Amino acid sequence: MPALETFGTTLERPTAPTLAPRAPAARKHRVLPMPALDWNDDVARETAHLYERIKTVIPSVEWPFFAPYVAAINRLKKVRNAVILAHNYQTPEIYNCVADYVGDSLQLAREATKVDADVTVQCGVHFMAETSKILNPDKTVLIPDLKAGCSLAASITGADVRLLRERYPGVPVVAYVNTSADVKAEVDICCTSSNALQVVESLGSDTVIFLPDRHLANYVASQTKVRIIAWKGACEVHERFTADELRVYREGDPSLAIIAHPECPKDVLEEADFTGSTAHMIDWVRTHKPKRIVMVTECSMADNVQAELPEVEFVRPCNLCPHMKRITLPKILDSLVYMKEEVVIDPAIAARARRSVERMVHLKS
Ligand code: SF4
Repeated sequence: MPALETFGTTLERPTAPTLAPRAPAARKHRVLPMPALDWNDDVARETAHLYERIKTVIPSVEWPFFAPYVAAINRLKKVRNAVILAHNYQTPEIYNCVADYVGDSLQLAREATKVDADVTVQCGVHFMAETSKILNPDKTVLIPDLKAGCSLAASITGADVRLLRERYPGVPVVAYVNTSADVKAEVDICCTSSNALQVVESLGSDTVIFLPDRHLANYVASQTKVRIIAWKGACEVHERFTADELRVYREGDPSLAIIAHPECPKDVLEEADFTGSTAHMIDWVRTHKPKRIVMVTECSMADNVQAELPEVEFVRPCNLCPHMKRITLPKILDSLVYMKEEVVIDPAIAARARRSVERMVHLKS
């Protein structure tokens, strides 16, 4: 029996999520006046400590454009009793200057269970905001742009999972968190790239269906004796990296460290000194403090780690996630002023999806 069997479709599907019906968050929370967005001495003083955090990655000439938004967002968070969760792929002015919690999908999912605020603004993509809502059904969860989708989440539906179950009766199904609530509702447990191996092995089965990322499935299959049945989804950002480009970097500087995310193709991972989730990659850089490094993942993360570790030189093959980049300071401000866009999930689907996410969250690390 092969260690990895791939199943599914490579059909092109839209990357934007299915839009949920608009919810009346603005009715529950009144719309606020749009704050003034002038650059002046008061704003400069109020935001000076935040600029210190990012001065190595954002030139001072650009700060007057960001600072009024940063100041206004931080004031409005208090008015709304809101917190901002930001993924590691958010741009430095969001990640470092307005976010209350930052991390990878697993860290954000865990933070979402502890959030003690009326409103959560999710600076990430739609499936992350859905995960926050699944874990906080009574709270208002906003995403600054409803069209912030994900090629992995768009590659599979709940109906696809039901077909897989018919084809492989009794085989447990693991879904990467990069899936819609509809898919999470159909599976046994979720995982992230931080805990995928642990989740697969926790099921005590000799065969597991793992979806939707074929590259992460391949990576997990290389680390375990469990037979993996994979789906043919892929991340459009990580799939663009090639082993050839990494070899060119290595030839130019043999001392260069290369660390990669497991959503990359197998031959890319074979060129890397370390493979891990975004959280594990950041820990690796903090621990090893290499002189020069390539982080083979979405390129805003290098800016965020650079802000923290200015002594490390980052070589940046810049693959940006177009969906993550839909989230901007002006849209975050609009979210807090107008209470949009609210994430709404059918309660019956949310309840079933919650079981899968909570099973993962409560798995001992
Ligand atoms: S980087 Fe890839 S997996 Fe992450 S949100 Fe973008 S398309 Fe999805």
